[in-house]
Amino acid sequence: MEKGRTRVDLFEYQAKDLFAKHGVPVLAGEVIDTPGAAREVAERLGGRAVVKAQVKTGGRGKAGGVKLASDPDDAVEKAGQILGMDIKGHTVHKVMLAETADIKEEYYVSFLLDRTNRTFLAMASVEGGVEIEVVAEQNPEALAKIPVDAIEGVTQEKAAEIVAAAKFPAEIADQVVEVLQKLWTVFIKEDALLVEVNPLVKTEDGKIIALDGKVSLDENAAFRQPEHEALEDKAAANPLEAAAKAKGLNYVKLDGEVGIIGNGAGLVMSTLDVVAYAGETHGGVKPANFLDIGGGASAEVMANGLEIILGDPDVKSVFVNVFGGITACDAVANGIVQALELLKAKGEDVNKPLVVRLDGNNAELGRKILTDANHPLVQQVDTMDGAAERAAELAAK
Ligand code: GDP
Ligand code: MN
Repeated sequence: MEKGRTRVDLFEYQAKDLFAKHGVPVLAGEVIDTPGAAREVAERLGGRAVVKAQVKTGGRGKAGGVKLASDPDDAVEKAGQILGMDIKGHTVHKVMLAETADIKEEYYVSFLLDRTNRTFLAMASVEGGVEIEVVAEQNPEALAKIPVDAIEGVTQEKAAEIVAAAKFPAEIADQVVEVLQKLWTVFIKEDALLVEVNPLVKTEDGKIIALDGKVSLDENAAFRQPEHEALEDKAAANPLEAAAKAKGLNYVKLDGEVGIIGNGAGLVMSTLDVVAYAGETHGGVKPANFLDIGGGASAEVMANGLEIILGDPDVKSVFVNVFGGITACDAVANGIVQALELLKAKGEDVNKPLVVRLDGNNAELGRKILTDANHPLVQQVDTMDGAAERAAELAAK
């Protein structure tokens, strides 16, 4: 499992906005969410328009999510057909209307982070427009793969190397070189993990245009990309994850019943494993979330974490697994006691059993604090396996 959410996939229209910002040639377009709105936009675009489903999955064309409209009336009709459509499990809530292109040829280009080889990679093919995985499998020599050095980037020479390797026709080579350099600018300036254009087209009049765009942003760079927050699809994100994020918590919703809080990503990861294992003997209960409250584990952070977890209707029991380090177990135990009081004072209905395991620095003192507090919902188990077993058992009841 990945720790936290690390990539933000964009809609096509958002990708195209970033392309336009960095000078990559795209066709003008606008996004709408009702069929009626299509008329005015189509008129602005000159009557004819291509109507495209905005969903975060490929193969929209094949699924009927890309349609040409011949006039504004037709645009309303096509938008009506596409809005509400289901494409591979994604409901279409928005469509983009864009200027149409007279396509002569369709190509493929992309830049991505190649984790296995610890480098960036350029991929390009003159067989675009179809799924690139199919090209890679059936005709691998038609897909050029060129490593890109992180420091040097895509210079004119590097772009020319990519163009030559993919065998782009000579008459458009210069244009493609330029587009590749601009796409690389998008990749670097926007802290992307993927920039993909499929198809990059040559029009009947010989122009190169990015007709479709896919961009994934690196969320780890959010601190230096203040504009990216607005690109996140808040509506689609899990409301618990959104609430956790607003509180600055490192939380990921999972599909089980045992709420998990721990300090340190590694500990939380192993907690997920032991709970899943213990759950096998209790009707298959599983962890409900990943939540790392970090080294600090103050009462406030503990209260925030508990609030998110107790607010998850799927959660039947909670396992608080803390290994005292710099923040010792007595501080954590006080944090738990205060957190429960805080939540009660806020009028929260705290009614799910909490299994707490404290180990490490000042564990004995921490345990004593919890014993003395004698909270009716808190049970202590001294070992991680034992506590996981107990939490799974309680969740299965
Ligand atoms: P995808 O199927 O999700 O990858 O969506 P694309 O945006 O790539 O569109 C699919 C296909 O529709 C493209 O490969 C083109 O053949 C076609 N298409 C998209 N936009 C236009 C356009 O403006 N004019 C024409 N003639 N075809 C288009
Ligand atoms: Mn495409």
